[in-house]
Amino acid sequence: MSATAPGSWGRYPPSKPRQVLHCRDPRTLILPAEPLSCLPFGNGRSYGDVCLNDGGALLCTRKLDRFIAFDPVMGSLRAEAGVLLSEILALVVPQGWFLPVTPGTRFVTLGGAVANDVHGKNHHVAGSFGGHVRAFELLRSDGEHRLCTPTHHADWFRATVGGLGLTGLIAWVEIQLQRIANPWIVAENRRFANLDEFLALNDDYEARYPYIVSWIDCAAQGRALGRGIYMAGMHAPPGLMKSPPAEPRALTVPFAPPVSLINNLSVRGFNRLYYRLPRPARGLTPYQPFFHPLDKLLEWNRLYGRRGFFQYQCVIPPADAREALREILARVAASGQGSMLAVLKRFGDKTSGGLLSFPRPGVTLALDFPNRGRETLDLLERLDEVTRQADGAVYPAKDARMSGDSFRQYYPRWEAFSRHIDPRFSSSFWRRVMADRTSRETTCAIS
Ligand SMILES: Cc1cc2nc3c(=O)[nH]c(=O)nc-3n(C[C@H](O)[C@H](O)[C@H](O)COP(=O)(O)OP(=O)(O)OC[C@H]3O[C@@H](n4cnc5c(N)ncnc54)[C@H](O)[C@@H]3O)c2cc1C
Repeated sequence: MSATAPGSWGRYPPSKPRQVLHCRDPRTLILPAEPLSCLPFGNGRSYGDVCLNDGGALLCTRKLDRFIAFDPVMGSLRAEAGVLLSEILALVVPQGWFLPVTPGTRFVTLGGAVANDVHGKNHHVAGSFGGHVRAFELLRSDGEHRLCTPTHHADWFRATVGGLGLTGLIAWVEIQLQRIANPWIVAENRRFANLDEFLALNDDYEARYPYIVSWIDCAAQGRALGRGIYMAGMHAPPGLMKSPPAEPRALTVPFAPPVSLINNLSVRGFNRLYYRLPRPARGLTPYQPFFHPLDKLLEWNRLYGRRGFFQYQCVIPPADAREALREILARVAASGQGSMLAVLKRFGDKTSGGLLSFPRPGVTLALDFPNRGRETLDLLERLDEVTRQADGAVYPAKDARMSGDSFRQYYPRWEAFSRHIDPRFSSSFWRRVMADRTSRETTCAIS
């Protein structure tokens, strides 16, 4: 991949777009000549290949960065699709508003947040991002500008929320913000000794807190399997430390070392230490480190070295969550792979709006793995066996390797979705998960 070609967060797979276009004005956008396929590219915070279009064209949206309208009384905001969530927070937090849903990094564009229908720590109360989208404009390659809302062109709305950039280019998005009395967060930390204890804590904490996430020690085994730290939070009431928290200073990892600095030894040592680290049971914290702790270290993905890394994020339905997660964690711990960034969270019952949305009721687990080639791919396929068996799903935004059969099992509405794909749009992800079908159809047609 050329040094300047936009890539994905996991730095895998390598990808070389034939053309990179920077969209500045969606009204005058001219697509590259056929047969080159196109794909919108936000800020490349997807880990795998949903934002890649190897051999095709990327339509980079970061220059679509204008705010269009903000109503500080009602909290509705309309902005171009390349505006970052960090830029929205900087505008609205001082005026008493907050994003309805935020993922674990704020360096995500509005268009990317819609196209992956992202979720946050408040899924059990707020559902996913798409549930707070009031409208967007979709540009199709035939030149049509389609205004979509949950009730107008509703089928296009459902296909584009979580639609992985394949239904066209989102030009702007209008969302409903949530009111906050205070930008500070009242946070609570609690250690849990294993997976059973984590599952037992959820009912109590979910009733009291809108934001919940847990870190787990994915190297722990035996009776400590699934041990970790439960972190819950809520916006502080008015009066408590009202001044806006200062923007935290960030450090940058300057380059990717030839080999991953995340290895078996560093993972075990870090996890053991992190689990035992003394931390306040309850306290006030600025919203930035609570929601986006990793944003303090810019380009942290470089720590995994030049070969990059995989993230595996699955969701397991409630009935099988205990057994399936235990099996997944046991397989990870026995493999000696895995990392420091392991996250566990229960999704609530709120239905996601998109035909391909990932969030659904159950427990979601996200794990990072340095890319050790075949060894890692085999492990991830063994994790997929468990997820498939439990009727769960893997998140496309984090994926670079699931098979077409797995994808179609996880997303049974893929056929209804595929009728909405813009004929000029495609991605490395879509070609990968559809490759076996394309070759099967070709074989049938020939025979
Ligand atoms: C540290 C970290 C933490 C994260 N935590 C979470 C989390 O908690 N929850 C979660 O859900 N995700 C999480 N993510 C994943 C991230 O939120 C999503 O991958 C998000 O979609 C990335 O947005 P982006 O702007 O970088 O888009 P990209 O990654 O560049 O693109 C994502 C998809 O959106 C499409 N797209 C982008 N812009 C447009 C547009 N204008 N029109 C149409 N399609 C478009 C692309 O084609 C692609 O398919 C995390 C990622 C990181 C790096």
